[in-house]
Amino acid sequence: MSTRTAVVTGASGGIGAATARKLAEAGYHVVLTARRTDRLDALAKELTADGRSVSVHALDVTDRAAVDAFAASLDGRPPLHVLVNNAGGALGTDPVATADPADWRQMFEVNVLGVLNVTQALLPALTASGDGTIVVISSTAGLDTYEGGGGYVAAKHGAHVIAQTLRLEIVGTPVRVIEIAPGMVKTDEFALTRFRGDAERAEAVYAGVAEPLTADDVADTIAWAVTRPAHVNVDLLVLRPRAQASNYKVHRTP
Ligand code: NDP
Repeated sequence: MSTRTAVVTGASGGIGAATARKLAEAGYHVVLTARRTDRLDALAKELTADGRSVSVHALDVTDRAAVDAFAASLDGRPPLHVLVNNAGGALGTDPVATADPADWRQMFEVNVLGVLNVTQALLPALTASGDGTIVVISSTAGLDTYEGGGGYVAAKHGAHVIAQTLRLEIVGTPVRVIEIAPGMVKTDEFALTRFRGDAERAEAVYAGVAEPLTADDVADTIAWAVTRPAHVNVDLLVLRPRAQASNYKVHRTP
């Protein structure tokens, strides 16, 4: 296991950091990537102290030249087995009628083109390893819509379609494509980013919900799917908190 390598995008917090921890615990050498390297360095320090094998690489998934340079720096040594496309997020809850196209563009850049950039750049190495896994963290927003979801819903549908289409196109190669679609996950920054730092609005997302999913819940699911035998492809796994029955049917206690 020690020679198996996994790249995680958006590993500086939330689901990405939790996934990096789980994969490192499972014996992978984990390449931690994100824009905020101070956070990656802190995580690397923690994991290294626990005897895990990790390295850090600054990476903005929307910067194609940087993504290509990152792929070249890996150069298939050691062989690459897993890519977790986790970097992403939402901006705003504006209705389609009035949303700012700049927000939509930013959401498409990270959630759709970011996945495309990194997947295209690393697919040759994943194929060459003879046993590759691509994980796409979409969302239940990628499978169904909700009012105010607008640009995020559209972008995550894009990520969902990338996973579905790629799986069709590369069947017969030694690479599988796993899509994980979480519902409500309470992470430190997701809602804060969506509401541009407004902590009160961010907290209201989870108000009265007994137990939203945690980053660890999702990371656990990702690690489970990734560690199935190579011939087993978990195509699409949807997970939500028990208190959430759909994107807009959420049980809240007053
Ligand atoms: P966070 O906001 O906590 O983390 C987002 C991560 O993405 C950060 O590590 C951030 O790192 C990274 N990131 C953002 N933009 C870029 C970029 N341009 N290049 C590289 N990295 C980037 O979100 P979560 O952990 O909650 O979410 C992780 C994924 O799961 C996202 O794709 C999100 O859409 C999805 N998801 C989340 C749900 C939730 O309810 N929380 C539900 C369903 C899906 P940095 O800023 O350092 O670059």
